[in-house]
Amino acid sequence: MTEPTIYELSSPGRRGVRYPDSDVPQAPLPTDFIRKDLPMPELSELDVVRHFTNLSKLNYSIDGGFYPLGSCTMKYNPKVNEQTARLPGLAFTHPLQPVETVQGDLALMFELQEWLKEISGFASMTLQPAAGAQGEFVGVMIIRAYHLSRHDTKRKKILIPDSAHGTNPATSAMAGFDVVGVPSDARGNVDLEELKKVCDDQVAGLMLTNPNTLGLFDENVLEVIKIVHEAGGLIYGDGANMNALLGIARPGDLGIDVMHFNLHKTFSTPHGGGGPGSGPVGVAKHLADFLPAPIVDIIEEGDEDTPPLYGFVTPSKTIGRVKSFYGHFGMLVRTYTYIAMHGPDGMRKIAENAVLNANYLLSLVRDKYHLAYDRICMHEFVVEGHWGDAPEVHALDISKRLMDYNFHPPTNYFPLIVPEALMIEPTETETKQTIEAFANALNKIADEAHSDPQLLKDAPHNTPIGRLDEVRAAKELVLCCWMPEQNA
Ligand SMILES: *Cc1c(COP(=O)(O)O)cnc(C)c1O
Repeated sequence: MTEPTIYELSSPGRRGVRYPDSDVPQAPLPTDFIRKDLPMPELSELDVVRHFTNLSKLNYSIDGGFYPLGSCTMKYNPKVNEQTARLPGLAFTHPLQPVETVQGDLALMFELQEWLKEISGFASMTLQPAAGAQGEFVGVMIIRAYHLSRHDTKRKKILIPDSAHGTNPATSAMAGFDVVGVPSDARGNVDLEELKKVCDDQVAGLMLTNPNTLGLFDENVLEVIKIVHEAGGLIYGDGANMNALLGIARPGDLGIDVMHFNLHKTFSTPHGGGGPGSGPVGVAKHLADFLPAPIVDIIEEGDEDTPPLYGFVTPSKTIGRVKSFYGHFGMLVRTYTYIAMHGPDGMRKIAENAVLNANYLLSLVRDKYHLAYDRICMHEFVVEGHWGDAPEVHALDISKRLMDYNFHPPTNYFPLIVPEALMIEPTETETKQTIEAFANALNKIADEAHSDPQLLKDAPHNTPIGRLDEVRAAKELVLCCWMPEQNA
């Protein structure tokens, strides 16, 4: 059953508000503004409230249920973040105000830069990029600017391990590089021998996700970095999986040269139809001069009586501005709140519990699902959604059936190197009971796949719409489903 549109609910003469009788002379409405072909729906206030409330309930949300979407880190978004982001002094400042009048905003941004540097081990940080993918683009542009500044013009290749997120090769290609794939070895690490074969004086860098998208920490990460550095290339770190590392390991210390954060993953700011993301980029010392401008800095040191004066600086060899104004400031406030609420020990506990929850969930389902790389996982893991003795059932069918059990499906068919991949990330904010309920559902579905495969092929059974042509639904958006001329 689809929701009726607000026009179908309309009833002539019904209304939501009544205005008092006018106590001023009437004036005619400007007729040229009023479209005769656009009828206005007539509804009561209650009709409207119910309509939009019911529509909102068609959306699955993290506040409504478990959302184990691998690689996306769909953790709980604490409500205190929303309160601080709405404080008038933070919410109502204007980006064109003189810096003297927004010192509080700048202090928050400066301190957040310092905290992210401390968490990641990088020397400098920009808060500008709008999301992880834009952070990647900034990082790859910085890698290019670095080589060109040394008159090293041969470096046209970026190496991408085959477990990488699709944004990595897309970013490299958009920045004008040739993308060269590097296979994984039997344990899910970057294959060192294959890496050596493609490392030459044309390599600009390698984009490394660690833990990788199999949820595995690369056991040879230091060796990988060394091989690329010895060839004169730089290492880009895809920081989407920082939730496994917080307070435990710092990418900068491992030798990574430049990395993005996904504040909307690791630091609990909403995403997935929930608002803008944020993808700050950290760099090691030798890349600091290339960061996008402007960066928040202390312009005048303070003392006991006067606070420091914050302002903006432009790095000497900057790649330029990548975003209007200063990034998604509201997301920076939420991240600041989240880090301040947890503190350094809390940061470490986040990572420890994310890894513990993932391993607990894996232990509950591994008897029924094949694990492609049989190792202790980090904050997520990948199983195969397919069985040789239930050949008609695929990962997609398992995901659709999970919706009947009221769970959001895991990520499907990614990473590409695992056939029929189901990529599962429970996050640290879920209880033991929720994890067990999800494992029970997955295990029951594995049994159903063998006893009644058609049940899975026909799923979901309880949603307003069953199976969509997902590619067409995304590419040919129909956002306005009611047109007066068609329905007249
Ligand atoms: C989410 C993700 C990205 C892209 O980040 P966005 O913020 O969605 O642009 C890149 N790499 C990995 C591994 C990711 O999970």
